[in-house]
Amino acid sequence: MTYVVTDNCIRCKYMDCVEVCPVDCFYEGENMLVIHPDECIDCGVCEPECPADAIKPDTEPGLDKWLQLNTEYSAKWPNISQKKEPPADHKEWDGVENKLENHFSAEPGSGD
Ligand code: SF4
Ligand code: SF4
Repeated sequence: MTYVVTDNCIRCKYMDCVEVCPVDCFYEGENMLVIHPDECIDCGVCEPECPADAIKPDTEPGLDKWLQLNTEYSAKWPNISQKKEPPADHKEWDGVENKLENHFSAEPGSGD
């Protein structure tokens, strides 16, 4: 198994998660992060740290598309292990529905 980042990270991108990951397996897109499934050691430390409740174990039902997205983009985006400032409008996006369909960006972030 692995943990995966899901919909509510998009445009919230608090980045609290990267500070606690012992193996630095977060990767940064323009407006969300993903976890590299082969690097994640399933420690679960990041899950309660996410203010957006966006990190889930992939053993929860219905997360196949998120496992695919985390796998695909962790191979394309740069590694991030240092917390940065979240987007200025991040609070307005917390809880907005269907962000993947309407707001996902495939562009990479700047990484560390
Ligand atoms: S803490 Fe949550 S919302 Fe913030 S970047 Fe990590 S997964 Fe995304
Ligand atoms: S579960 Fe542990 S290893 Fe996996 S991303 Fe979270 S903090 Fe990192």
